[in-house]
Formats: sequence, structure tokens, C-alpha cells
Amino acid sequence: MIEPNSELIIDYELIRNNIQVIRSNLHSNCKIMGIIKSNAYGHDLKKASQALDDVIDGYGVVRLGEALKIREVSSKPILAMQGVYSSDAYDALKKNNIWSVVHSISQLPLAKQYQDDLLFWIKVNTGMNRLGIGLDEFDQCHWLFKDSNTLMTHLACADNPEDELNNTQLKNFDDAWNQVANSMQRSVLNSAGIFNFPDQAYDWVRPGIAMYGGIDFPGLKTAMTFRSQIISIQSLDKDERIGYGGRVKTKKPSKIAIVYCGYADGFPQTAIDGTSVIVNSYQSQIIGRVSMDLISIDVTEIPDCKIGDWCELWSADLSILENAKKNHLISYELMTKMSQRVKRQYLNI
Ligand SMILES: *Cc1c(COP(=O)(O)O)cnc(C)c1O
Repeated sequence: MIEPNSELIIDYELIRNNIQVIRSNLHSNCKIMGIIKSNAYGHDLKKASQALDDVIDGYGVVRLGEALKIREVSSKPILAMQGVYSSDAYDALKKNNIWSVVHSISQLPLAKQYQDDLLFWIKVNTGMNRLGIGLDEFDQCHWLFKDSNTLMTHLACADNPEDELNNTQLKNFDDAWNQVANSMQRSVLNSAGIFNFPDQAYDWVRPGIAMYGGIDFPGLKTAMTFRSQIISIQSLDKDERIGYGGRVKTKKPSKIAIVYCGYADGFPQTAIDGTSVIVNSYQSQIIGRVSMDLISIDVTEIPDCKIGDWCELWSADLSILENAKKNHLISYELMTKMSQRVKRQYLNI
């Protein structure tokens, strides 16, 4: 074994496949704004924008700095989704042809100075009550109601189509649209919305997590493989305890493998016993508390398991959602919390 390290292998071909799955659920005129905020949910902002440029129609980010990085490698539309706040920033938008969101009437004075030079997406607060201009103050931005701009909102419960807030938000969005009364473009849906409310796709959809395979839908695959090597194997008797706090006791004679990876690499410290991993194509489970740099797994039933074998924490073959659901976490958080010390490999850019 060479000096071991935890590894994150990002396969852009899997992301492109996921985007095809998304596209096959949309009407043919609908454009995809791929959301690559937060370093493309841990999949490398710049490489992702190179690798996906042929299969998406635009990019959505949060910060101006992210938008400028993408502009170095792509000429597609880029939207700064949380808006900008200074004339320097507006100048940068203009110079680099970047679109931005106006989500608050406090942004209107500056935005107005640039109204002839920039494209804006007007974000309406339809009931999520996070960002967005309220319906009661919506007429204050009437000068933004022009065909080149886009009307947008964000659903709070798109992942739960039964929730009545969806209907309220969609109705409020229609009300805003009726006030606009022109041929602006519209954008409502994130990943979950694309699968649960396909008739609200309009002109642009904004998928993030689905591109990376962090949501349950047939055909989507986790695009990152997180793995590390086994550096020790313990043969234990029945009734022996494992790891900090001695959280578990063996029920029978057991073989326990110690994996070179822990919560300091980005594996959740709160992972419970029974959380699945894969070793040599066999399913294995976490047993005992996750340490800073080590994880223990039960390999009793895995034939010929030895030091140096790789353990996959999640991958295309073991959805990141299995870990997230088992541990009451969300795939978004697992993806964006991968630590710097994990060695990166990039496939099929
Ligand atoms: C993050 C974000 C998205 C993407 O959400 P997913 O659930 O990852 O698809 C879309 N729209 C806005 C406004 C966002 O902030």
C-alpha cells in the first residue's frame, strides 16, 4: 500500500447523464440553468462549468466571485442568484455580461441606474419568506417588467408535493405574473420541483442537487465517489466493544476493518451503526462511533477482505442518499462538507 489518503473521485460523465435524465422530464423549449453554487455542491466550480458547458443552457451561482470564475471558461448565461450590492459589483456584472437577481426593494435604487445595461431576474416572495419582493410592494419595480427580464420564485416545499404551501406559492406566482402582463420569461422549479411539478417548468428550470445525483429519481446516480483504504483488521470475540464510548458490543466473533477516513474528511460524525459502505463490491456497515480520522466497519461476512482494500463511503453504486437518510442528514450537506485534505480526482471533464 502506498501512503493512504481518502479520495473524492468526481465523474463529470455521470453529471452529464443526470442532466439528460432531467432534460427528458422537460418540455423541449425549457432551458436548464445548472446551479453550481458552493463550488458546484463540492464538484469543483470551474471544472464543472467546463465539463457541462455543452449540455446546459446557463449557470446559477450565489456570489459574484463564482460568476466571474465561470465567465473565464464559458460564454453561456450566468445568473448571480442572490443579487449584488454595490456599484462596483454592478459594473462587474456589466463588464462580464452577468445577469443578477433583484430580490428586495432595497436593491431598486442601484438596479435602476443599470436598468438599460443589465438583465435582471425579479424574485417574488410567494410564501417561502426568505428572499423575494412581496406582492404588496411588487408594483414598485414595474420598470423592471420588460421582455428581456425574467420573473422567478423559489418553492419551499417542492420535495413534498402534498404540502399545501406549494399551491399557495404557485397561485401567488400567477398573481405576480398577471400584474406583469407581458412576455417576460418565467422560472420556478429547483430539482425536486422538476420531478413533482413538471407543468410549472416554463422557460427556465434551476436544478442543482439532481445534477449531482443527490435526489431520488430513477436514472440519477451519485456523481462523486468518496472512498478510502483499510489500514487494519481486528479479529474480535463475542461481547467485545468497539471505538469511543464502546458504543457497540459484538454479538458473535467478528472481523472489524479500520478505514483511513473520519469526520475530518467529511464523513458525518453522527453516522449510526448499520450505515452502509461497500468493500470489494460487498455491502458492509459502520460499527461503532466515527472518529476524526478513522471509521470501523464490519467485514465478518466479506471473503478475503485485507489491508489495502478500498472502502466506498458513497458512489454511483451506493447512493449518497442512503447515508443521508439513515442519519437524518441531507445529501446537499454531505456533498458541500467534503474537507480539503481529501485527495481529488476528476474524470471525463
Ligand atoms: C440552490 C437553489 C436552487 C437549486 O436547488 P436544488 O434543490 O439543489 O435543485 C434553485 N434555485 C435557487 C434560488 C437556489 O437557491
